[in-house]
Amino acid sequence: MDAGVSSAAAASYHERVRAALREFGIPEELITRRHLVLCEEPAELVLAQVGAGGRDYLLTPPTKAAWDAMRTAAALDGIPLAIVSAFRSLDRQCEIVRDKLAQGQSIDQVLTASAPPGYSEHHSGCAIDIGSSEAAALEEIFETTPSYRWLIRHAGRFGFSLSFPRGNQYGYIHEPWHWCYRAG
Ligand SMILES: [Zn+2]
Repeated sequence: MDAGVSSAAAASYHERVRAALREFGIPEELITRRHLVLCEEPAELVLAQVGAGGRDYLLTPPTKAAWDAMRTAAALDGIPLAIVSAFRSLDRQCEIVRDKLAQGQSIDQVLTASAPPGYSEHHSGCAIDIGSSEAAALEEIFETTPSYRWLIRHAGRFGFSLSFPRGNQYGYIHEPWHWCYRAG
């Protein structure tokens, strides 16, 4: 992809993000106040895991490589890690926000647990919601599991860090299951 094409694609992505923020009445001020960072969709994604329902979990190639290494190391320690959520598109994030609003939540309530479209780390293909058989998926109780304790001790070695600890500056609830790969 040449620079002209990629900057055109970026401009169109930014325009779609702005349109989504307008649709949901999310002010730019909220993005600034909560220190949210725009996350672009990656050029390349690969299949990292097929979920129980036959759903494909996609990650960037470096994230998948790091995930494979980490999952293998965890398994050797008797810790079975699994992906609960991986890449998520801008359009899918809009659907999630629309569904929650339709269920009667206010936009402020929605944005404590879901990112504004365009600002989810899941758009980047580098974030993984990790689950275990020990606790319900995407629940704070995940922090009481051996899987979580293992991740706290070892995930950094594989390039993964916890994005939303308790009291995070982004205004999200504590998400002990959400880990993001950052190339070192
Ligand atoms: Zn997540």
